[in-house]
Amino acid sequence: MAGSSRVEGISFAGKVVLVTGAAGGIGRAAALAFGRAGACVVVADTSVDGGHATAAMIVEAGGKALFVPCNVTRDAEVEALIDKTVSYYGKLDCAFNNAGIEEEYLPLAEADEALYDRIMGVNVKGTWLCMKYEIRQMLKQEGGGVIVNTASVAGLVGAPTQAIYAASKHAVVGMTKTAAVEYGRDGIRINSVCPGLIDTPMLARALKREPGREEKLKNANPIGRLGQAGDIAEAAMWLCSEHAAFITGHQLAVDGGLSAI
Ligand code: NAD
Repeated sequence: MAGSSRVEGISFAGKVVLVTGAAGGIGRAAALAFGRAGACVVVADTSVDGGHATAAMIVEAGGKALFVPCNVTRDAEVEALIDKTVSYYGKLDCAFNNAGIEEEYLPLAEADEALYDRIMGVNVKGTWLCMKYEIRQMLKQEGGGVIVNTASVAGLVGAPTQAIYAASKHAVVGMTKTAAVEYGRDGIRINSVCPGLIDTPMLARALKREPGREEKLKNANPIGRLGQAGDIAEAAMWLCSEHAAFITGHQLAVDGGLSAI
């Protein structure tokens, strides 16, 4: 989503914002939106080409960006990511922990241990490691900070054929609520966005595995269309902003009404 942001009037000038999984999809849309709003953006991803491309797009649009390659499942890499952020930009105001992977559509009893470990590794351990080092930094600096984690509608309700993914996103919700309570008095707000069906490379891969499902998925959303990466970026940005100053420990469904059914 390289278009303009609909969140008007929110400035992140002077703010340092980290986005993980920012080489594509929702993360890229968010990184670009934060860049347009004046933030110094740290783009993190395992994809070096995609990460560099996102950072270049921000800079070409007149913004400031630094790409740091990072696999969020590795403790040392996440620690180094936060260290680089702080040595380059001096602080960390907001973090959008968005890196995540999907599960092939499989009934629970057909999944194997390797799939479980892979999904939990990125979606749960990765989110935990990012929060751990982000919070340590936010506790050290003046003014605290804001964290937004990408959970999912599958973190709020069941997701048939995606039991492990649903478990991983419920875990993200659990960590979000717990950390929000633990660090509320330290000036750190922590929330989740819960996307529904969003038109990104992740969804495209899922549809490729199951041709013919697109119409069904589109029609699943009461609002009558798939979500766009920018829909989630807008929500994450708003949660990071002063407009959401009294909101913490919240799971914001951005799903065209999917979870209302
Ligand atoms: P995507 O696959 O398009 O992008 C995910 C990005 O995360 C990629 O750039 C990938 O390289 C990166 N990534 C994967 N593993 C990583 C790791 N170990 N370390 C660092 N980066 C890593 O997916 P998306 O649709 O943009 O999804 C973003 C987030 O939104 C994910 O957490 C996903 O679970 C969640 N989500 C997506 C949808 C949807 O319909 N697209 C719905 C609900 C939730």
